[in-house]
Amino acid sequence: MHVAKFWKRSGKVVQCYLCSRKCQITEGKTGFCRVRQNIGGKLFSLNYGRLTAINIDPIQKKPFFHFAPGSNTFSISTVGCNFMCKFCCNAELSQLWKEVEGEEWTPAQVVKSAKEAGCSGLCYTYVEPTMFFEFAADCAALANKAGLYNCWVTNGYTSPEAIKAISRHLDAAVVDFKASGNPKAYAQLSSVTDVQPIYDALLAYKKNKIFIEVTNLLIPQYGESLADMRKLCRWIVDNLGPDTPLHIIRFFPSYKLQLPSPDLKLLESAYEIAYNEGLRFVYLGNIAGHKYESTYCPGCGRLLIERYGIMVKKIDLSKDFRCPACKTKIPIAGTRWIKQ
Ligand code: SF4
Ligand code: SF4
Repeated sequence: MHVAKFWKRSGKVVQCYLCSRKCQITEGKTGFCRVRQNIGGKLFSLNYGRLTAINIDPIQKKPFFHFAPGSNTFSISTVGCNFMCKFCCNAELSQLWKEVEGEEWTPAQVVKSAKEAGCSGLCYTYVEPTMFFEFAADCAALANKAGLYNCWVTNGYTSPEAIKAISRHLDAAVVDFKASGNPKAYAQLSSVTDVQPIYDALLAYKKNKIFIEVTNLLIPQYGESLADMRKLCRWIVDNLGPDTPLHIIRFFPSYKLQLPSPDLKLLESAYEIAYNEGLRFVYLGNIAGHKYESTYCPGCGRLLIERYGIMVKKIDLSKDFRCPACKTKIPIAGTRWIKQ
């Protein structure tokens, strides 16, 4: 157990503001995520250093396509989540666990293992990384000192205060949307009644100069329409900029949501909408072998980074990350960690 960050006390009740649920937690109880407990008027993180998943992944799998392409990342997770998505692929870790479990690790062991495995950085992932914020922050500080990057994959519910605090060490974030941000779908599928904090978090990442990629899991059966998709794309262009990579992810039946996947035509229509709204780097995900997994030059259309599924097959960029044909600058962050 570890004293948590981001809480205040009012009498015997503690309010946690690590994420935008802002739980009021009475003595002895835990918040919505079940990994933060009020003990004697103090808030504790119950899952500090209790790792339940450790993997070496290509960074494209997260998916980061414009950050340190080709590098391997040391991915870690604990139990706990602040959403209850019916389609969660990691439900064992996010929701189905009974007691906090996991092997005990220290930040120094994580960083040492990542280096020994030849990874270029750490990724906090599989469940919402904010749920193990204190451990992630301690790992991130050490990782930066050791020359490794830090990135995370998030549902966007981290509070702006927590984003500001982690920004010293966090290099990049993938922010996941579900059903194009449709509020009804969020309420029905993820137990989330207010989607505004996700947009606020994106603005906080931008303000704190953290590199952002966005994903959108397309679930058309849940009130989502291509009009929602258009609205989301417009918001990204207007607020984060047209160079923000957007990954349109094909839904597959999973956990409690046993529905058919959207057909390819719908995904390709969503791709066209994103592109027509002005996003310059749009990708289709969960369709291995599709041409829209690769990066094309927005200037002349040349194939620049060829991918197959989660693998980078070829990078064809000049040393200063321009298209070799028309010299258009391609936004790539984390260039010091690129492995070709
Ligand atoms: S981190 Fe957990 S306890 Fe804190 S506000 Fe979010 S759900 Fe509630
Ligand atoms: S936010 Fe992600 S990890 Fe959490 S329940 Fe939803 S899909 Fe699972």
